[in-house]
Amino acid sequence: MPTDKQQQALRQLPAVHTILHHADLASYKEKLPPEWVSQTISDILSLERKAILEEPAPSPRPAEAILSRVRMRLDLLTSSRLRPVINATGIVLHTNLGRAVLSDAATHAVEQTARSYSNLEYNLHTRERGSRHEHVEELLCRLTGAEAAMVVNNNAAAVFLVLRTLARDREVIVSRGQLVEIGGSFRVSEIMRESGSRLVEVGTTNKTRSSDVAKAITPETVMLMKVHTSNFKVIGFTQEVPREELVRLAREHGLICYEDLGSGVLYDLKTHGIGDEPTVQECVQAGVDVLSFSGDKLLGGPQAGIIAGKKEWISRLKKNQLARALRVDKFTLAGLEATLRHYLHPKEAAEKIPTLRNILRKPEEIFRRAEELYGYMREKVPADVEMEILPSTSHVGGGSLPDVELPTHCLAITSSTFSPAELDRRLHQGAIPVIGRISKDRLLLDLRTVEPQELRQIPQLFQDVFP
Ligand SMILES: *Cc1c(COP(=O)(O)O)cnc(C)c1O
Repeated sequence: MPTDKQQQALRQLPAVHTILHHADLASYKEKLPPEWVSQTISDILSLERKAILEEPAPSPRPAEAILSRVRMRLDLLTSSRLRPVINATGIVLHTNLGRAVLSDAATHAVEQTARSYSNLEYNLHTRERGSRHEHVEELLCRLTGAEAAMVVNNNAAAVFLVLRTLARDREVIVSRGQLVEIGGSFRVSEIMRESGSRLVEVGTTNKTRSSDVAKAITPETVMLMKVHTSNFKVIGFTQEVPREELVRLAREHGLICYEDLGSGVLYDLKTHGIGDEPTVQECVQAGVDVLSFSGDKLLGGPQAGIIAGKKEWISRLKKNQLARALRVDKFTLAGLEATLRHYLHPKEAAEKIPTLRNILRKPEEIFRRAEELYGYMREKVPADVEMEILPSTSHVGGGSLPDVELPTHCLAITSSTFSPAELDRRLHQGAIPVIGRISKDRLLLDLRTVEPQELRQIPQLFQDVFP
């Protein structure tokens, strides 16, 4: 039985139709089907009823508070769920924030393809049906030096297609130290099982010798696979079979040498002293038969899985019925083609592709951005907010170059009224959420990944959530 107080609070709850006819809800009734609005109101009222019954002596619910809850729910229903955010984490390829941001040219290409018909599968010269692979295959071959190439939905799909097509029911030898789990619980060993190929693990977590691989080769073996340990680094007492050695062993035994490169860099970051990642070109040069890598990691393009290598193998992959299930759409192809075109001139790639630009951004430039933001913020923030520019480090992210630390500068924000967690929480609630990171009791906005036009938006967004 409800207590007297509970009964009283329940009786005071407004009826659905009273709220429904409130003037504040008029605009929602234009934007949403009327049933959605009344359903939302009754959902909120049920929650209120439940809350009242959980407290022995509840206070009456003010009508204003109920109305405001209804409006918050309706705001969610009327606004886009997937929306832009300002990445002030300094993590260039932030998996949760959509990984690579496309260049202007790639964005334009996607938009154009969306707006009009295209020759997606139509050959304008022969006037016959064409292949959607053709649009990027030649570019990929020229850029990587591979004989053939194709594109699928993502690199996980690429790994699956390669194993399923070329190694089903056969043995694939992989070093134990490379059986990695990539974010979102994608495990190389699981994908192998799903593909129907048989995993033969060799070596130990930290060491695999060429002789370990050689000893494991049986008449059932069809492939030697190398997996890039993207998101971690084994340091200390370690040994890996060099790529050239794996290629030699594969040749000697008539096996396919396949490398899952993970990120797959086309632009040589080593020349800037960043990481020691071999380029895709170097891996092709080394004689690897089949390679696969992501389109939206270090390449800086749309989500895609790129497979490049010897024609013999790529042709078989293209013929597999599964290729149809894993194929990319026209937006991806448009964005990828435009991204790849930047790489025809490496200098252009470094300037135009946001991923490369953000990785290569000099700390001095980031410092200037931090100063600029500081200036704009000073005019907008309340007096109890303290700001300071601090040197820090940012990371590439996206399971790429895990050991690389990029020197950066952050705007550190503290307040005598709000905790760093509260500052962070509120900045997530603005019209454009600003995502920073909390470190040592301060909210840090890392300027490496903040674009110049966003510098003026941040203070306004800050003011909106701290009026
Ligand atoms: C990231 C990664 C994948 C998965 O690539 P997606 O494009 O995210 O599907 C597979 N293998 C390795 C080694 C990776 O780093």
